[in-house]
Amino acid sequence: MNEHSIRAYNKLLNMSLSKDFNWFKKIELSDVKHGGVRDQKNFINPIGTIYVDSDWGHKQFREYHYESPFPYDEELSFGDIIGRNLSQEIQKHFKICFSIVYSEPTPKYMSFSWLNVVFINKDENMIQESMRRILNEETQGIDRFIDELSNTHELSDELKTFVKKFIEESQCKKIDFSKFKIDALGLALHTGVLINSLTLKKPLPFLLFVIFHEVAHQYQFKKYGDDEMYHFYLGDVTEKEAAEFMKKTEEVADEFASRKIRELQKRGLIGSFTPPQVYKNVSIQQISWMLNNFKKDMRKKNIDSPEKISEYFYNMAKSEL
Ligand SMILES: [Zn+2]
Repeated sequence: MNEHSIRAYNKLLNMSLSKDFNWFKKIELSDVKHGGVRDQKNFINPIGTIYVDSDWGHKQFREYHYESPFPYDEELSFGDIIGRNLSQEIQKHFKICFSIVYSEPTPKYMSFSWLNVVFINKDENMIQESMRRILNEETQGIDRFIDELSNTHELSDELKTFVKKFIEESQCKKIDFSKFKIDALGLALHTGVLINSLTLKKPLPFLLFVIFHEVAHQYQFKKYGDDEMYHFYLGDVTEKEAAEFMKKTEEVADEFASRKIRELQKRGLIGSFTPPQVYKNVSIQQISWMLNNFKKDMRKKNIDSPEKISEYFYNMAKSEL
């Protein structure tokens, strides 16, 4: 069968099966061959893989294999897990779609034994979904963020592109200006970045420094992962270790932001400004005191996952007014 027809058959089957069966995930056919034990011309063998819900698939398997253990590592054919009645139901889709695509009379017989079955569980589905999001989707709110920036400051196209690219390449999920309830310039969480809208009134180089600092934390999330980054709130670490790790990540974010500012100055895109080294002069004792206060409060409020931490700081910082 030619490639074009296979693709059309595959597409039609995917649409048709997903409409009628909720356990069906997708099908990937590589070929369809005629031939079988009976009337060869009237017999089709679809070759490929069918992906089904794993709960459903395990139940089906049990129904027809009372005692044998589940063949986790072996290839299983789709025909092995469906009984006669269901098989007839599903065959209708294969036969009718076949006759539509190939303009042939509806075949009388078919076999599922050349169709492998793969079980997809819900977690895998969710992971695939979020990976797709990370790979394909740009930072949520990025265009509005750049607009707000260029509404209050004059930005060349080159500078706009630079800032946008820097933010997107950090894989920052979301970025926004917001009024703050607390005395902070910005907030970086694994769910995204929030910049205090008061900083919009500051000179552009300073404002960019704040943005770059928070986005630098997004590069750290990308590099170390959420669990590692929140380790000093959740993990089993000593006070001193936690404070040192936090000081380190802040100093690195300051340095990273300074380098970006210097790069822009060299290219003549922003005026003169000496980036501050905010965290260089903050002592380990001060950080450790602050961390302890957070940890105590978090324990009281049962904050024990990256999601809850993110929500906790987000609610603490963002003002609804
Ligand atoms: Zn920071």
